[in-house]
Amino acid sequence: MISYSEYLNNIFPGVKVQKISVNAGFSCPNRDGTIGTGGCSYCRNDSFSPAYCMTRKSVSLQIEEGKAFFARKYPEMKYLAYFQSYTNTHGRNIEALESLYREAIDCEGVVGLVIGTRPDTLPDNVIGLLADLNRQKPVFLEIGAETSSDETLRIINRHHSWKDVKDAVNRASNNGIRCGLHLIAGLPGENREQILLNVANACSLPIDTLKLHQLQILKGTPLYEEWRNGMAEMTPFSLEEYLDLCAEIVRIVPDRIVIERFLAQSPPDMVVAPKWGLKNYQFMNLLNQIISKDKR
Ligand code: SF4
Repeated sequence: MISYSEYLNNIFPGVKVQKISVNAGFSCPNRDGTIGTGGCSYCRNDSFSPAYCMTRKSVSLQIEEGKAFFARKYPEMKYLAYFQSYTNTHGRNIEALESLYREAIDCEGVVGLVIGTRPDTLPDNVIGLLADLNRQKPVFLEIGAETSSDETLRIINRHHSWKDVKDAVNRASNNGIRCGLHLIAGLPGENREQILLNVANACSLPIDTLKLHQLQILKGTPLYEEWRNGMAEMTPFSLEEYLDLCAEIVRIVPDRIVIERFLAQSPPDMVVAPKWGLKNYQFMNLLNQIISKDKR
């Protein structure tokens, strides 16, 4: 299994690359009424937006501030502009999208774009735009799939199907765009077998990367209320269970796919469960100890 940094190093040889999160003021079709208003049951978008991402700041200003933050430590660093919050292909016409993406891609030191979005929000003209930009600098699509079970997608109020995921990945990949899928482990009603099936189904698609994390129950979300009221059929993972699951996932994911991440780390005051108090490197140390036993 190669690491995500090795993967980036193969694409950008000899260059240290860091993502800079950009909040371009996008909304989400599952919140603004386009397809729904309640959002996904586990979602609390402020749990993954860094403080320097203020919507009223321009994209280029956010990138400059992000660069200033990282360049103190690594002056030679290059950057991927990461359109992370909400659904970054939604609610704007194609000219407005192009203007935003070009503002980012043209910033000095930016070597590529990462666009986080939903599978049902990638019409052909957006794929075409991303393919054009990809000819200028690498574009990475991060598509939220979360699970391959349509029943779970219904329970968590995603308002899209697994077929939408397959369709989006295939169209993007056919246009030369690198795709990553996002999955969540431990969604309501899903056992270990279903999670491993989700991973296998994701790996059957032409993706480059997988981003996986444990379901976190966050204060202020519908999922938290369902869990508190005993309505959600789920038990948060213990650390040992989750490590064991991740080790199995490493065993079944083919070498051509890079696992970018296993752990979500929302601000501790938002998280109700599970509360492991581990940083990513600490989790990876524990996981690597298990994986290295496989190799003996
Ligand atoms: S997880 Fe994504 S799609 Fe779901 S409500 Fe949050 S921003 Fe919208």
